[in-house]
Amino acid sequence: MGLNHCEGQPYAAGSLRRALERGRMAQAYLFAGPEGCGKRLVARELAKAVLCEAPVSGDACGTCRSCRLVESGSHPDVEFFRPEGGKASYPVRQLREEIRRRAYLKPALGPRRFIVIERAEALVRSSGARNEGADTLLKLLEEPAPQTCLVLLTSRPEVLPETVRSRCQLVRFRPPPVGALVSDLVREYGLEEAEARFAAYVSGGDPESAAGLVARRKERKFLLSLRDRLLSAARLLGTMSYPELFEAAAAVESHARDWGLLSGALGVLSLIYRDGALRGLGAGERVLAFPAGAEAEAAGELAGRHAPEVLVAAARRVLKAQGDARRYPARLLLLEVLFIDLKCILRAPADRREGGEVSCS
Ligand SMILES: [Zn+2]
Repeated sequence: MGLNHCEGQPYAAGSLRRALERGRMAQAYLFAGPEGCGKRLVARELAKAVLCEAPVSGDACGTCRSCRLVESGSHPDVEFFRPEGGKASYPVRQLREEIRRRAYLKPALGPRRFIVIERAEALVRSSGARNEGADTLLKLLEEPAPQTCLVLLTSRPEVLPETVRSRCQLVRFRPPPVGALVSDLVREYGLEEAEARFAAYVSGGDPESAAGLVARRKERKFLLSLRDRLLSAARLLGTMSYPELFEAAAAVESHARDWGLLSGALGVLSLIYRDGALRGLGAGERVLAFPAGAEAEAAGELAGRHAPEVLVAAARRVLKAQGDARRYPARLLLLEVLFIDLKCILRAPADRREGGEVSCS
């Protein structure tokens, strides 16, 4: 990796690298872009490039002690913060005892410290008689520790007060094209393209979690069994008996261990139904999410068996479950109800009336 190789975000990473090459580094950055577009990864690469013991044209060497420490997440001068316990806002204790205190520490190893605040919008939202989050942020920006670089990551820059935004150098991030992430995974980890595509979609397009998933051998095996179970459910749900259906839901649930993975898996499932519908309509490969691989086989099989309207209805139902997954902690129940509905949708004869909806009452 390195700023030169953040292919999902060539513009953001490239502009940072050029600034470093000219010796121009800001005291505070605001990385703004959609959730999961790689802001965290670029923040880490920025810290790596600045702290590198032998940088090359403004970028990290990737092999020195400092680079290795940043990469493994154990560099004492690079700290990432996010709201404790997955809360919606930063608790006051975390603001006072961690962020505020640690931002004023002297660097332990290198020339600088990096304080990366993820979901910066959650910092401003933290409530109380006074808005302690916003106060903390302003203090860090108005009276910065000379050797500390503050990096704020947010998907909602508009929520931050103008006083905060105007004191940071804005770096805009675009949603990365899946293609770039897929080629990164193929190049870095030697995955088959179809496998890399599954990992990219199931990680919601987030380069860091995709890399994390495929880098760990055990996780990778886990990911592939999730893929098998998901594809078998996609193909067979319409003809499964109820006991088989409950078993399939339990198998997917046990492999989609957290909300992010479940949401990613549901995203893949909806794309398979979508691809099936597009194939049924005679669309070209260019518009398919999965032009090849086991997902493409499943989509082709579905296209041969169901009318496009039925597959669109199935995709829509899966997307609804993906939205619900954020709110309901009962993942197994969510999958069971989804699979029952899908069985019903995929069993229903296509309603071919103009603009007709497939109903399952
Ligand atoms: Zn280095």
